[in-house]
Amino acid sequence: MRAALYVHVPFCGKKCGYCDFYSVPVDAEADGALLDRFVECLCRDVASQLETVGVTEVVSVYIGGGTPSLLGARRMKDVLDFLASRIACGGVGGQVPPEFTVEVNPESLDEDFLSVCKLGGVTRISCGVQTFNAASRLAVGRQGEISRLHNALALLNEAYGGSFSADIISGLPCQDEAALLRDIETLVSYGPTHLSLYDLTLEKNTPLYRDVMSQTVTLPPPETAECLWIAGRDFLEAAGYPQYEVSNFAPVGNRSAHNIVYWRMGSWLGAGPSASGTVIMEGVQGDAGKNTNAGNCTETSGLRRTVKPCVKSYVSGATDGILVETLDRAALIKETFLMGFRYIEGPDAELFKNRFGSPIESLVPETLDRWRSDGKMGGAGLALNRDGLLMLNRFLTDCFIELDGTI
Ligand code: SF4
Repeated sequence: MRAALYVHVPFCGKKCGYCDFYSVPVDAEADGALLDRFVECLCRDVASQLETVGVTEVVSVYIGGGTPSLLGARRMKDVLDFLASRIACGGVGGQVPPEFTVEVNPESLDEDFLSVCKLGGVTRISCGVQTFNAASRLAVGRQGEISRLHNALALLNEAYGGSFSADIISGLPCQDEAALLRDIETLVSYGPTHLSLYDLTLEKNTPLYRDVMSQTVTLPPPETAECLWIAGRDFLEAAGYPQYEVSNFAPVGNRSAHNIVYWRMGSWLGAGPSASGTVIMEGVQGDAGKNTNAGNCTETSGLRRTVKPCVKSYVSGATDGILVETLDRAALIKETFLMGFRYIEGPDAELFKNRFGSPIESLVPETLDRWRSDGKMGGAGLALNRDGLLMLNRFLTDCFIELDGTI
């Protein structure tokens, strides 16, 4: 089986006020023993999943978080050596995965870390910049001095020029259009090959949510935030980074192969606290894929494995922290829509038909007709264009209502 591998490193130097990802704040020095133990458990987790699932080829690796660069050069080398022994040399696939990404944050990035990555087969670095605006950073509790951002980007340009990605956030407090475009322009000057532009989401149960509710912090109103994001999108496209997914921008050759596995519903393993993986089990389809009890037909389904979001439980080796669910045909079809229409090329139509026994057009004909005639679909008509992507949630609602009658 071919699968991608996602590894979640659930540690950050300090929690950002807007973040609801699972990560716990640590001090890399004082909490060294915890980080060492985490690396041990992580390697065991990956080894066990590769074996249990029977992965024969790892198509991409993404070490995200959290803040993987907090592990430091020595621990990252341990992780990379382990992966090399299992993926490149250990008979799984027989070669280094073509795309191997590690996420970093400027405040914990140094030359040693980057050189370990480079020697260890990491082909791509993704750096969380978010904004160069000190007032915006302070308002959302984002760590890191501006000078460190510039230093980190200069290091990346030197070590990973031609293969690094960076993130920017729009809709921040104290941010107007000029400030956002200045952020993007500054970032582009360091030569990233891929950029992500996220519209700030106010998540409940975050410090930022409480600050906004108590009016300690003011966010741009939703219409202003949307205009900001669109201005950022247009600027990125004019700068040579075409939009290829809801929040991602890059020329065709620099798109994230790992994320395309998610958007096109491939199989991936997830290791580390809060990570989830999905393994697709291809079936043999019967009549239009619906009459799956007939003869010896089996239907395609998915197996989702989610690790409990708890570092304590993970490093204790507890085995009760894993949730395994089966995604039946209907759930998998909906998820294929959910993920596939985020991508500028839409879901993989051929794969969809082979997998589910019905073409996409036959399951949502009315929705596709309506959105095509509204000029919101591009290409061969099985993908939203950039105007359509702005209304992705409405499109998916229409699809799901229609799918409920056809699957
Ligand atoms: S660094 Fe990233 S993962 Fe960590 S708290 Fe901030 S946004 Fe969340």
